[in-house]
Amino acid sequence: MRINCPCCGERSLDEFVYYGDADLRRPDPQDEEAAAKFIAYVYERTNPSGFHRELWYHSLGCRTWIVAERDTRTHEIYATCRAVDGGAPEGAAADGERS
Ligand SMILES: [Zn+2]
Repeated sequence: MRINCPCCGERSLDEFVYYGDADLRRPDPQDEEAAAKFIAYVYERTNPSGFHRELWYHSLGCRTWIVAERDTRTHEIYATCRAVDGGAPEGAAADGERS
Protein backbone atom coordinates (compact mmCIF):
# COMPACT_ATOMS: atom_id res chain seq x y z
CA MET A 1 0.00 0.00 0.00
CA ARG A 2 1.20 3.51 -0.80
CA ILE A 3 0.04 6.73 0.85
CA ASN A 4 0.08 10.13 -0.81
CA CYS A 5 1.58 12.49 1.77
CA PRO A 6 0.41 16.08 1.11
CA CYS A 7 3.97 17.29 1.78
CA CYS A 8 6.19 14.53 0.29
CA GLY A 9 4.06 12.89 -2.38
CA GLU A 10 3.36 9.17 -2.74
CA ARG A 11 5.37 7.05 -0.29
CA SER A 12 5.51 3.46 0.94
CA LEU A 13 3.33 2.41 3.86
CA ASP A 14 6.55 1.51 5.71
CA GLU A 15 7.21 5.22 6.27
CA PHE A 16 3.93 5.77 8.15
CA VAL A 17 2.46 4.87 11.54
CA TYR A 18 -1.26 4.24 11.82
CA TYR A 19 -2.95 6.06 14.70
CA GLY A 20 -6.66 5.32 14.34
CA ASP A 21 -10.01 6.89 13.65
CA ALA A 22 -9.63 10.50 12.50
CA ASP A 23 -13.10 11.43 13.72
CA LEU A 24 -12.70 10.24 17.33
CA ARG A 25 -13.08 13.20 19.69
CA ARG A 26 -12.13 13.47 23.38
CA PRO A 27 -15.29 13.76 25.55
CA ASP A 28 -16.02 16.89 27.56
CA PRO A 29 -14.84 16.20 31.16
CA GLN A 30 -17.63 18.41 32.49
CA ASP A 31 -20.29 16.17 30.93
CA GLU A 32 -22.52 14.36 33.46
CA GLU A 33 -21.73 11.04 31.80
CA ALA A 34 -18.03 11.79 31.34
CA ALA A 35 -16.80 8.56 33.01
CA ALA A 36 -18.77 6.31 30.67
CA LYS A 37 -17.83 8.43 27.67
CA PHE A 38 -14.12 8.30 28.56
CA ILE A 39 -14.25 4.51 28.90
CA ALA A 40 -15.76 4.32 25.43
CA TYR A 41 -13.24 6.87 24.11
CA VAL A 42 -10.25 4.92 25.42
CA TYR A 43 -11.31 1.30 25.00
CA GLU A 44 -14.08 0.92 22.45
CA ARG A 45 -13.19 0.80 18.78
CA THR A 46 -15.24 0.06 15.72
CA ASN A 47 -14.04 -2.22 12.97
CA PRO A 48 -15.44 -0.48 9.90
CA SER A 49 -15.84 -2.28 6.62
CA GLY A 50 -15.59 0.17 3.77
CA PHE A 51 -15.03 3.92 3.88
CA HIS A 52 -13.03 5.13 6.89
CA ARG A 53 -11.24 8.38 7.83
CA GLU A 54 -7.89 7.55 9.46
CA LEU A 55 -5.02 9.37 11.11
CA TRP A 56 -1.51 8.49 9.89
CA TYR A 57 1.85 9.89 10.98
CA HIS A 58 4.65 10.21 8.42
CA SER A 59 7.31 9.11 10.91
CA LEU A 60 10.09 8.40 8.39
CA GLY A 61 9.38 11.47 6.29
CA CYS A 62 8.17 14.97 7.08
CA ARG A 63 6.64 13.96 10.46
CA THR A 64 3.26 15.36 9.48
CA TRP A 65 -0.04 13.98 10.75
CA ILE A 66 -2.32 13.27 7.84
CA VAL A 67 -5.96 12.25 7.41
CA ALA A 68 -6.53 9.55 4.82
CA GLU A 69 -9.91 8.52 3.50
CA ARG A 70 -9.52 4.82 2.81
CA ASP A 71 -11.66 1.82 1.90
CA THR A 72 -10.76 -0.82 4.49
CA ARG A 73 -11.88 -3.64 2.16
CA THR A 74 -9.71 -2.74 -0.84
CA HIS A 75 -7.12 -0.44 0.85
CA GLU A 76 -7.82 2.15 -1.85
CA ILE A 77 -7.04 5.64 -0.55
CA TYR A 78 -9.46 8.21 -1.96
CA ALA A 79 -7.84 11.36 -0.59
CA THR A 80 -5.36 12.67 1.97
CA CYS A 81 -4.79 16.00 3.70
CA ARG A 82 -2.74 17.37 6.57
CA ALA A 83 -4.58 16.84 9.86
CA VAL A 84 -3.99 20.46 10.91
CA ASP A 85 -5.97 21.58 7.88
CA GLY A 86 -9.05 19.88 9.37
CA GLY A 87 -12.05 19.42 7.08
CA ALA A 88 -12.39 16.92 4.31
CA PRO A 89 -9.36 16.10 2.17
CA GLU A 90 -9.15 17.62 -1.27
CA GLY A 91 -11.09 15.51 -3.74
CA ALA A 92 -13.23 13.97 -1.01
CA ALA A 93 -16.88 13.23 -1.68
CA ALA A 94 -19.70 14.77 0.33
CA ASP A 95 -20.86 12.92 3.46
CA GLY A 96 -22.54 9.61 2.84
CA GLU A 97 -21.47 9.17 -0.76
CA ARG A 98 -19.11 6.36 0.16
CA SER A 99 -19.95 3.45 2.39
ZN1 LIG B 1 5.44 13.52 4.36
